[in-house]
Amino acid sequence: MARYLVTGGAGFIGSRMVRRLLERGDTAVVLDDLSTGFRENVPPGAEFVQGDLADPAVWEGLSPEGVDAVLHLGAQSSGEVSHEDPLRDFDVNARGSLLLLGWCERHGVRRLLHASSMAVYGNSDRPSAEDAPKRPGSFYGASKLAAEGYITLFARRGGAPTVFRLFNVYGPGQNLGNLKQGMVSIYMAYLLDGEPVLVKGSLDRFRDFVYVDDVVDAWMAALARPETAGETYNLASGRRTTVRELLDGLLAAFGRAGEDRVVQGEGTAGDIAGSVADISKIRRELEWSPKTELREGLGRMVRWARERRGASAREDV
Ligand code: NAD
Repeated sequence: MARYLVTGGAGFIGSRMVRRLLERGDTAVVLDDLSTGFRENVPPGAEFVQGDLADPAVWEGLSPEGVDAVLHLGAQSSGEVSHEDPLRDFDVNARGSLLLLGWCERHGVRRLLHASSMAVYGNSDRPSAEDAPKRPGSFYGASKLAAEGYITLFARRGGAPTVFRLFNVYGPGQNLGNLKQGMVSIYMAYLLDGEPVLVKGSLDRFRDFVYVDDVVDAWMAALARPETAGETYNLASGRRTTVRELLDGLLAAFGRAGEDRVVQGEGTAGDIAGSVADISKIRRELEWSPKTELREGLGRMVRWARERRGASAREDV
């Protein structure tokens, strides 16, 4: 049994991670400021500390008692928001990560798993391997890349970090109320409301979608493999899906295949045309492969979203 500090554990991916830790008998303390996460996402059984990871006082006050490792998912997680407020994005993603690393060093917590992003690569026509050029097209990508730099120094100074560059993660639990983060959840929110889908940018853009439980599996595999310390892995499906294909898949999952329900708008600042991963390294070294096909994952997510809608409609009565 181990004890984990999970930053961002009230968010979409972090809360899924905490649930898995508790299921396997570990304990978790969540640090989250609830800026995009929700208190009710934190599974019962986890401890919760509300605080801003960009605030040094939070790290002064946070007990390291018994913490074996940190899962660092707390972040300003939207490319669009990073362009509205680049300094806040920097404060949370770069400075906040640096403060966390200082806390780890002060308290002898060596093991760290970090959620970086495909945004560090920027636009790319071809699958990016981990050593591909880093040309972030957004402030978000730049702050995530800065955090990776600090983590490299942490490793040189005795830390044992593993960095995952997550591509487009989707699945149950994604925030359907946030129209600035998560391509799948944004489009799904329109469809659930019976509204046309506003697509900001070209339908020919492509992305690499990975199901949330596959992401959790990869992190759990890394926790079981100390030799992944010092390594960086793309965490993705390795498949290129255009926005048009995603919309077709979503419409099919809603039982509305063939309908034309798209309104096109201006692209958002810093958005990229294409992003797809080469996942050879994670397949080889973690013996991990994505289990959930996009069609299957979208189907599960639509069922979850409908059940949730149904439940909240009943509560309203
Ligand atoms: P999310 O917004 O649901 O989760 C982020 C969590 O961090 C939220 O609970 C939020 O309240 C918390 N947080 C934000 N600022 C904070 C601060 N200053 N102090 C403490 N907590 C703070 O997003 P997510 O999709 O679950 O993303 C989790 C991580 O994965 C993030 O680091 C994100 O950048 C990264 N990531 C996500 C994706 C994706 O497709 N979802 C892709 C690449 C990388």
